[in-house]
Amino acid sequence: MRDTYGRQITDLRVSVTDRCNFRCIYCRSAEPENYQPPEHLLTWAEMLRLCRILGTLGIRKIRVTGGEPLVRPGVEDFIAQLSSQGAFEEISITTNGLTLGERAQALKAAGASRVNVSVDSLQAERFDRITRTKGTLRRVLEGIEAAQAVGLNPVKVNAVVVRGFNDDEIVDFAKFAIQRGLVMRFIEFMPLDADHIWDRARVVTAEEIRRTLEAAGLPLEEVPRHYGSETALRYRFAGGLPGEIGLVAPVSEPFCGKCSRIRLTADGKIRTCLFSRLDHDLRGLLRGGATDGDLVDEIEHIIAAKEDGHHINDPDFQPANRTMVFIGG
Ligand code: SAM
Ligand code: SF4
Repeated sequence: MRDTYGRQITDLRVSVTDRCNFRCIYCRSAEPENYQPPEHLLTWAEMLRLCRILGTLGIRKIRVTGGEPLVRPGVEDFIAQLSSQGAFEEISITTNGLTLGERAQALKAAGASRVNVSVDSLQAERFDRITRTKGTLRRVLEGIEAAQAVGLNPVKVNAVVVRGFNDDEIVDFAKFAIQRGLVMRFIEFMPLDADHIWDRARVVTAEEIRRTLEAAGLPLEEVPRHYGSETALRYRFAGGLPGEIGLVAPVSEPFCGKCSRIRLTADGKIRTCLFSRLDHDLRGLLRGGATDGDLVDEIEHIIAAKEDGHHINDPDFQPANRTMVFIGG
């Protein structure tokens, strides 16, 4: 599957739920629940059908995400069935890690390749403030350990760096990566938050992170990428230290020209860019008796219309019509 700009589409992010047990300040609002009614969400069978069709069209890597994917009952079975379709080189999961300690073994047994765990502070009280929860950091860290122990490696830890919230922890995160031998990924804050606190001044750029680590005596060496379309710029620590750093810089160093991704939302829409102002409904087709051939035609049509890039840096940029928790990060 190639789009009109010649980009090959090989990666699918499937959001299996819009629900979440956290309310991270840069993602969801503190407001009461605004979840979609259950009948709006694709069933597991509907998702599996779409994934099978997308596998025949060239999708090779699937990331299961949300909302918080581990809050939807049956996610292990979904992964097992995806895995048995045999079309995918990698099935990864992005999770906040709260229940990973109890689930890691079953996820691995189901066929998950690896996990990304979001941790935006290593300080317990600050973690509570950012996630609007109480006493959860310890469980998330236990989840990371469990994932490493069962071989969901490399475990990648994601931190969205927001100036004034956690930008003083960049060096601590790097030391955490070295101690635990994991990949620490710093993600630039994007205008996808429900509370609209995003402001360019709050974005801590990849370049700033490189300089901060260097100034702290942790210079980085670039690692060649496996795939041209990888979102993160990869770095090793100089001197052969364990662990790795990833810098995901959609704002300051956009990588749209190499984008290989599409997203399927929990309510059955395809989004061709995080910042799309339009999503493409497949649920109506699925529930209206479409054949596999009809779905293939529609998906090819959607891919052809994938936008050239996100245009965050254009003066007339308009934020996306859905926030991250509804799109699937
Ligand atoms: N609940 C899971 C988690 O937190 O990992 C999966 C879904 S979450 C929406 C996926 C990723 O999006 C997380 O790594 C999160 O940090 C990131 N994210 C959410 N809002 C963001 C924003 N405004 N800018 C950048 N990344 C964001
Ligand atoms: Fe939930 Fe993940 Fe969004 Fe945090 S970033 S509110 S854990 S979906």
